[in-house]
Amino acid sequence: MSNFNRRDFIKISGASAAGVALTPKLSGVFQNFFQKEGKHLLESDAVKVPTVCEVCFWNCAGWVYKDQEDNIKKIIGNDDDPHSNGRLCPRGTGGLGMYYDDDRLKKPLIRVEKEGQQSFKEVSWEEAFDVIEKNMKAIDKKYGKESMALLFHGKTGPHFEHLFKAWGSDTMGEPAGAQCLITREAGFIATYGAGLASPEPTDVRNADCLVLIGNHIGENMHNGHVQEVSTLIDRGGEIITVDPRFSTVASHSTTWLPIKPSTDLALLLSWMNVLINENLYDKDYVEQYTYGFDLLAEHVQKYTPEWAEGVTTIPAADIYKTARIMGAAAPKTIVHPGRHTAWYGDDTQRTRAIAILNALLGSWGRKGGFYFPEKLKLPKEAHPPFPKPKWSWKDISKKKHKLAIMGITNEILDNALPEYKGPHKVKGLFIAATNPLQSIPDEAKIKRALDNQEFIVVVDTMPSEITGYADVVLPEATYLERLDHLRTAHHRQPNVALRYPAVMPKYDSKPGWWIARKIGLRLGLDDFYEWEDFEEVLDWQLKQVGSSMEEMKKEGVKLFPRNTPMYLEDGEEYWFNTNTGKIELFSTDLDEWGYDPMPVYKSHGDVPAGFLRLIYGRLPMHTFGRTLNNPNLNDLKKEPNLWVNPKVANIYGLENNQEVWLQNPKGKVSSFPIHVRITERIRHDSVFLPHGFGNKGRIMVNGKVEEMSRTYGRGISDAEMISNIEIDPETGGTGMRNNFVTILTEKPTKTEEKS
Ligand code: SF4
Repeated sequence: MSNFNRRDFIKISGASAAGVALTPKLSGVFQNFFQKEGKHLLESDAVKVPTVCEVCFWNCAGWVYKDQEDNIKKIIGNDDDPHSNGRLCPRGTGGLGMYYDDDRLKKPLIRVEKEGQQSFKEVSWEEAFDVIEKNMKAIDKKYGKESMALLFHGKTGPHFEHLFKAWGSDTMGEPAGAQCLITREAGFIATYGAGLASPEPTDVRNADCLVLIGNHIGENMHNGHVQEVSTLIDRGGEIITVDPRFSTVASHSTTWLPIKPSTDLALLLSWMNVLINENLYDKDYVEQYTYGFDLLAEHVQKYTPEWAEGVTTIPAADIYKTARIMGAAAPKTIVHPGRHTAWYGDDTQRTRAIAILNALLGSWGRKGGFYFPEKLKLPKEAHPPFPKPKWSWKDISKKKHKLAIMGITNEILDNALPEYKGPHKVKGLFIAATNPLQSIPDEAKIKRALDNQEFIVVVDTMPSEITGYADVVLPEATYLERLDHLRTAHHRQPNVALRYPAVMPKYDSKPGWWIARKIGLRLGLDDFYEWEDFEEVLDWQLKQVGSSMEEMKKEGVKLFPRNTPMYLEDGEEYWFNTNTGKIELFSTDLDEWGYDPMPVYKSHGDVPAGFLRLIYGRLPMHTFGRTLNNPNLNDLKKEPNLWVNPKVANIYGLENNQEVWLQNPKGKVSSFPIHVRITERIRHDSVFLPHGFGNKGRIMVNGKVEEMSRTYGRGISDAEMISNIEIDPETGGTGMRNNFVTILTEKPTKTEEKS
């Protein structure tokens, strides 16, 4: 299946698309499956089924209410759930639109070619598995199992991780990892010997001061945190928001610092300077728990607020004032670690600076700062040891980046390019629940990597850009129709939450566990699947901790007692998991590995003449490209706007709601236009573009077009505009905030993109 150009296929599909209607087909296959193989629908008269929301990664637990005919009526929060406290956010409430969306992938598809035209053909699951088995075995024979890589996201990912590890490939990465959490985790691990994971253990409900840097709580619907921030606002607490954009949370803050983008580290270092020089830091805490204070104190002397004013454009007086507010509230001050923390290529150092600031304020392990979370330990099901692959993601990423904790998708795709001549070639991709063409940067490179693959499988609920590049497309059931691993995320109290199928999967979609197991059996991995139904695994796991599926179907969430205190006692001896056993203000690991042991400010340059910095981010009603097509959420926001400062509008002669295109410094012009919103809420040197729009994924199935019809061609894709990626040396994190665009009031008829 390798002799075609996938890019051509997309062009063919797009050209043939206009005016073709969809005809959704219901299939009886899954009904049979459930009657014969599954027991997943609650068989009692109960109409309340436990779920874990997957509209975003906060994974709130809730209840699905349905009538006797299996029509879902509503989804609400589970009162016992610490992620949601019984309330779902508006996105989560609208989650059932994912189930009802008639643009969903409906049947397994395989690519076929007829008279030079490529298209997809609907097939049975067994036919799709035939193709997968044949091609995965062929890649193994030709290159080794390691050359088949897995890219995944969300709760469905672990099913395919298990499959790949059992087969013998550990070449895998989570596209969001290198952009979202990897640099932050590295920065905190280097400082405290512990990462933060999700949800972050920030004790906002007891805090007096919260500092948010490029952190959009409220647009990022981190439910529990949004609720705690609301109580902080109600209590009259201090909220200091640092953001070039007047975000939702900035509008509720006591202070907004509209920083010059790319200079955040300068501000953080100057805050340290003030805290230390004005003796506002927590001396007892620093003396007892930290290592390297004298070195840090000397190191930050040059980073005065007056110096930082010239770099950040924030007046020195405001830097002094906010540092004093933070110091006065300490240790009940949280400098929030944020998410999506890969920005400018020095992001481990920037998040290290955030970790160090919190240490100076004495907030780690303190009430109103960061609590010590606890997590329920669930035993894993028994299976033979995974075979040891000859090479893995570590050979691709870990050797380059000492603090890499997972595969860097961009680097895995580098090894998938035709020009890659090294020993760790990627020749096949298995992509589960992620769309790399929207979720990771450098579209041109990704397309070349995709074109160079001998086999691609896509598992997803919706057709997106990546679907058009697949050889086999497998329709996955939505979170409301499937069973997944138990949620055991750490929190104030250890807990477990169950996602149970509320209804049978629509069309011919199937749950990820079922798909992974069936492929595993085709590949001869029977020893790794000694169960027939994933429910058996969960029941066994729950019984090891004194619960059961029976109980969890009734309760949805179960809380367990803590084993250790949530906060440090006054003067308590405490051993941190670092080389020195202390919070390392001077990192001995970073020093040993040749990185800066303390954060050093480095300029990232200025916005090129004639361009504006591209700032992208979420809207409150949407999470990913996939959620945009959800009819409930789409109703709330169908089209994005480009935020433009009035000064910029004046220069370009723009009017509110005018249609414009964007062009990046490499000459790439956006595929679609966007309407302008002129607002003082964005700095004059930047524009803001909501993430996930500009979808151009279309596939031909049996001569008809399938697409996300509510989002196709609406707005501009930020990923399409991003051409410059700054790599964080410690982790491989892919910073995408050093990208620029200019505004075009008319679309050029021909565009040239420089390579
Ligand atoms: S925060 Fe909202 S969208 Fe995210 S998991 Fe919770 S309810 Fe769902």
